[in-house]
Amino acid sequence: MTSKPETAGPPVDSLPQRNNALLVLDVDEVVLEFITPFCRLLDEHGARLHPESFRLTGNVRSIATGAALSGPRLDAITQQLYDEQQTRQPPVAGVEEALGRLSQMADILFLTAMTPSHYDRRRRLLDDAGLAFPMIATERSKGAVVAELCARRNGPVVFVDDLPPNLAVVHRSAPQVRLLHLMANEVFRPHLPALPASAASARDWGDAEAIIRAWIGD
Ligand SMILES: [Mg+2]
Repeated sequence: MTSKPETAGPPVDSLPQRNNALLVLDVDEVVLEFITPFCRLLDEHGARLHPESFRLTGNVRSIATGAALSGPRLDAITQQLYDEQQTRQPPVAGVEEALGRLSQMADILFLTAMTPSHYDRRRRLLDDAGLAFPMIATERSKGAVVAELCARRNGPVVFVDDLPPNLAVVHRSAPQVRLLHLMANEVFRPHLPALPASAASARDWGDAEAIIRAWIGD
């Protein structure tokens, strides 16, 4: 028997609609740094990231032996990062200012695949950073959630994520959504898989804000 995917946060039908446009943002590597603090934590565990492909598993090695860390070991380190996110995961450069301006013209929703049990901790971290926009943490497909959001709205919808497969799944479920790739840390850029043909790419939040403004109309 498979268990039902877990979700934490406000139900889709309870989200306020104040603006015509909707901006749906992944959190790790888009709103909060993930790779940089993950590497810092790896160092504390005597390991280092050597990106040779677009994944963590197999690319993290023990500094002492050179052996790759197992998937379960990496999962445990990721859970530690989420447990300690309030002191380890700072906002991505420029995000508070950009979202402050964009929130005048679009509703903003955070959509994270982080384990929903860490919801309260992440909520406090975002609130403390002045990023009090609603957040849904879910194990469901982001494509399904974005399609539900689109069904309730008439205006333009923009989806931003650092993982190309998430952009692709949203494109399949909701082809009208504008897709933007943004990844705060640069180490994986040489190994980035192909983006969906319609997706744009931003190097930082200054770049992302300009693209989003052009899409949703200023
Ligand atoms: Mg992410």
